[in-house]
Amino acid sequence: MSTRHMRTRFGEVGIDHGAPYFDAVGRDFRAAVAAWRRDGLVAPWREGGPQAWLGIPDMASLITRLAAPHDVTWRTFVNGIVRGAHGDWHISSDRGLHGPFDAVVTAVPPEQAVPFFALHDLEMARRASAASSSACWAGLFVFERALPAVSLVLRDTGPIALAICNRAKPLRTKPESWLVQADSEWSESHLQRESEDIAPLLLSALQDALGLPVVPAHEVAAHRWRYASSAGIGKAALWNADLKLGACGDWLTGPHAECAWTSGRALGRLVNSTFGGISASSEKDSLCVL
Ligand SMILES: Cc1cc2nc3c(=O)[nH]c(=O)nc-3n(C[C@H](O)[C@H](O)[C@H](O)COP(=O)(O)OP(=O)(O)OC[C@H]3O[C@@H](n4cnc5c(N)ncnc54)[C@H](O)[C@@H]3O)c2cc1C
Repeated sequence: MSTRHMRTRFGEVGIDHGAPYFDAVGRDFRAAVAAWRRDGLVAPWREGGPQAWLGIPDMASLITRLAAPHDVTWRTFVNGIVRGAHGDWHISSDRGLHGPFDAVVTAVPPEQAVPFFALHDLEMARRASAASSSACWAGLFVFERALPAVSLVLRDTGPIALAICNRAKPLRTKPESWLVQADSEWSESHLQRESEDIAPLLLSALQDALGLPVVPAHEVAAHRWRYASSAGIGKAALWNADLKLGACGDWLTGPHAECAWTSGRALGRLVNSTFGGISASSEKDSLCVL
């Protein structure tokens, strides 16, 4: 859930280039989303479907606003986790060593989680190795004028899985901007191309889909989501209570924001149960306690 802000001659525009919206289907997640709505963090988005929601004012702000009460270190690349002789954990990153911590949990794609687990828990590493992610190329386009589009949301047209004009979303009106997400087959087959090559291809696909002649875009960009979606492995979370090492994320549960939330919540309960908080026993069937 990510938003790219672009400064243009026509003003600043934020384009949700990761998950452009999310659905709330399950009872617990719907209750959480209803609370976020009361706090002004999200709004329903009928153009996306009857269960679709948007972060307000953009998708990324939902994450930053939910994280605000917590001690979060942003923009830090973790390159290792280190366990001390007394079971304490440290995290090494491009900013140095952090810790000590009582427990470590990951919420990263499986391909990026494997190296963290490999030195500590082979079973966790094996499960993450068995999961795989598929890619998504996203194109971001800003135009001087509104495109004469009949529809502001397009699905499954040529290589396009989803295209959305920002005018279709509340609080994101100007300047005219479009997100174009290619389907996974196209994205995988163009995975090694440079973003400078991809952006014109996706712009041309958008013009074709809208039935428009060549329309010059004022700003063009493309973003490669190498690990965009993963089918899930049918487990809500992984937790090694002895090591106090865990994993959550959509790669365990399925390729949607709701699945990631469900997984994180399940792992939170397991961590709590280890540290003497609430019990996770009611969810044991779906959890993977190693
Ligand atoms: C293009 C795209 C479109 C999508 N569309 C939808 C949609 O329409 N509806 C929907 O419900 N869901 C959609 N999703 C899926 C949704 O975004 C994910 O299911 C959800 O974000 C997964 O959350 P997560 O916490 O498991 O992982 P992520 O959101 O992938 O978060 C993992 C984070 O870990 C960071 N990270 C990875 N490695 C490291 C490291 N070594 N150190 C530090 N940080 C690291 C990453 O940068 C990332 O910020 C889409 C995803 C993409 C990419």
